[in-house]
This record gives sequence, structure tokens and C-alpha cells, in this order.
Amino acid sequence: MVVANQKGGVGKTTTTVNLAASLALHGGRVLVIDLDPQGNASTALGIDHHAEVPSIYDVLVESKPLSEVVQPVPDVEGLFCAPATIDLAGAEIELVSLVARESRLQKAIDAYEQPLDYVLIDCPPSLGLLTVNALVAGAEVLIPIQCEYYALEGLGQLLRNVELVRGHLNPSLHVSTILLTMYDGRTRLASQVADEVRNHFGEEVLRTSIPRSVRISEAPSYGQTVLTYDPGSSGALSYLEAARELALRGVGIRYDEHQGYVSPQNDQQSTAEGIQ
Ligand code: ADP
Ligand code: MG
Repeated sequence: MVVANQKGGVGKTTTTVNLAASLALHGGRVLVIDLDPQGNASTALGIDHHAEVPSIYDVLVESKPLSEVVQPVPDVEGLFCAPATIDLAGAEIELVSLVARESRLQKAIDAYEQPLDYVLIDCPPSLGLLTVNALVAGAEVLIPIQCEYYALEGLGQLLRNVELVRGHLNPSLHVSTILLTMYDGRTRLASQVADEVRNHFGEEVLRTSIPRSVRISEAPSYGQTVLTYDPGSSGALSYLEAARELALRGVGIRYDEHQGYVSPQNDQQSTAEGIQ
């Protein structure tokens, strides 16, 4: 699942790490690929990503196997991260001269042999070759939309890029999910934006929206997701609920009313309590 929106600060990274943690906490095996040179997803997951750490840069540019850069996330069983280091900032340029420059991430994921239920890719705030690599590698796109003025601006460009990649490089790619983030129910603007997004996209918009929450924004500074930082907070509960919606749609892990989350890898029951 490619988490993309070329606008910065709309909640891509926050959504990637918290959805990933929600899915992992309920029995899924989940890999987060940090594709933003800022490395914010790596930070939020408590993964070291200083310049010497083997990273997704080595995978994309040096053809290092993905398995050699993936690290387990402390505190959350079943959650893994391929970190980004600042080297990745040069990759947009370095990739240009490499063969099959758009499909290097796809090749790396295809060659990764560990069992996984979900791969979530956190994109940078641009539509360059890094995001194109994510779109070629992905099965579906999740677009976080911040409930603010200008929310829909620039979205057409992202949707056109998805169409281009679908037409030429990845025929099964589609925008499957829109998630409203930083929703503040007290403002009329937020509900207007939410209505507009729902009218525009309909089915793809998750019923759960993510509230603006201080706990969500504090968690990364402790190298944690909000799921471990404050599991009972409204932010944690809303990401759990959004993850449940995803699972109920039959993407990756299956949600069974009686058994909870069931992983297709082993069809075993996972720890089910918590999300109803
Ligand atoms: P992006 O990856 O799209 O640039 P981020 O996920 O980094 O966006 O979010 C931008 C900023 O907003 C970060 O400081 C983050 O902590 C904060 N933020 C994201 N979601 C929420 C939320 N629901 N409530 C409060 N702050 C949030
Ligand atoms: Mg980000």
C-alpha cells in the first residue's frame, strides 16, 4: 500500500506508522518502507537511521537485497522497517541514469522472501522517481487528506500520475483508500472539507477519520507510534479503527467477527481483543 500525497504535512508518515502498528498489534506481519529522505517514519518507529545504517537507498541505488536493510521495530512484534537515511535525497538524481529506474523497488520487494501480510510505503512529498518507484511496486494507493483549506488542491496531479503508472507500468494499481486526517470536529471548515472529499471520492473514503490529537504528534519524539505511546488515546483508537476498516475490506489480513484478525499467511487466529 502506497501512502502518497505530494503535499507535505498532511499525515502520510503518521498514517503509515500508526496503521502499520495497528495491523501488527493484531497479528499481521507488516513492513514499513521509508521512502522519504527525511526518515520520519524510521524515527517514529524507533529505528536508527544515521548515514552509515544500511537503508532503502542501498536497495534502490546499489541493488542491496531488501532483507539486508530491514530491521525489526522495538516494542511491536511483527512490525519491520526498511529505514531511510539522508543519502536518499540524492537518489532522485542517481536513479535517472540506472536501468529500470522506475521498477527498482518493485524488484526488491518481489525478491524479499520473508512472509508479510502488508507492506506500507511512506512516500516523500513529491511526485519524483521515488514516488514513482512506490507506485510501480504497490497494489493500491492510500491518500491521506488533511481537513484544511486547499485539501484537494494538487490531488488531480497525483491522480493523473497514478493513471500514468497504471497505464504503462502497473496495470493493477488503483487508489483504494482515502483517509481524512487532523480532523477537528469543532470547526465548520473541517466538516466542509470532509463532506467535499466524501462527495468527490465516495466509497474509497474510510468512515473513520483521524482526529487532531496532541498524543499523535508527541509520539514520534519518543520513537514510538501512538499505539504504544498512549494506547487508550483517541488518536490510537482511531488508527485501530481505520486499520480494522482496511482489514474488513479483505485487503491482506482478514477480520473475522469471532476470531479477530486472521493472517492469510498461516490462517492462524491472532490476538483479537481490543477492536470491535
Ligand atoms: P507528512 O508525512 O504528510 O509530511 P506527517 O505525518 O509528518 O505528514 O504530519 C505532519 C505533522 O502533523 C507532524 O508534526 C505530525 O506529528 C502532525 N500530525 C499528523 N497527524 C496528526 C494528528 N492527527 N493530530 C495532530 N498532529 C498530527
Ligand atoms: Mg512524511
